[in-house]
Amino acid sequence: MSRRLEAGPPDERRRVYDSGVTDANAARRPTPPPVRGGADESSRRTRRFLWIFGIWIASLVVTFGYVVFVQGSWWDPFGPASRSRLACMSNLSQLAHAYSDAIARNPAWRPRSGQAMLLAWRKDGTIRARQESVLLCPGDNGVTVPDSPQARARYDTVDLGAPPDDLCSYAVRDFARFPIDPANAADEPVVACVGRGSGAAWCACHKDTFLIGFADGDVRTFTRTDLGIAPGAPPVLGPTSPSPLLRVLCFTPADAATK
Ligand SMILES: [Zn+2]
Repeated sequence: MSRRLEAGPPDERRRVYDSGVTDANAARRPTPPPVRGGADESSRRTRRFLWIFGIWIASLVVTFGYVVFVQGSWWDPFGPASRSRLACMSNLSQLAHAYSDAIARNPAWRPRSGQAMLLAWRKDGTIRARQESVLLCPGDNGVTVPDSPQARARYDTVDLGAPPDDLCSYAVRDFARFPIDPANAADEPVVACVGRGSGAAWCACHKDTFLIGFADGDVRTFTRTDLGIAPGAPPVLGPTSPSPLLRVLCFTPADAATK
């Protein structure tokens, strides 16, 4: 009203004032919509939006975490091959430490050669039932973790003189032929993952990586080049092996006698 009154000449201001009309264009302007609640309504809408947005983000985070860290199937930062190798290294570390602990308790102990050493531990309870997975490399397709009393009974009744080849993945030292020098424990192989079987039937557990556990409990990884194994060729275990580290290993006492 004041802007209109000031804008016009004095007589015009008087006429508008007297007629009671404060704005000549007021009738032509659209009527503004009614304001419901004003600032309070706007604040409620903002809070509601933030709640919904926050719940949406939280559900995304939970779903992403479940898929990645629980299922591990959609995006795996390590990859199944790496996880298999890490699990195998853990097995070998436990077995190598079990050897070093046993020899520390009884320096006169003379273990069985080959897988018989490990299977004897399972048979006498050093490795308890349902803990057989410590003997099995996750990358070994020729073995299965026993999941029934019948499957576990094969470990209870195993013939340590001629064990079957599907109860254990690992090559073990031929202690009879290659006794360990305690002064050189850090470089004396005890147990190793070098793939399944030997000769033409051999298949890799970790592609071109070989894992060896030593008498001091340490586990190290080796390439084909490290061990002098030609590309694609199976590693040769036993006395005829060109590798000093593989020369002392075997799968079974029979291997130890024939190689
Ligand atoms: Zn392995």
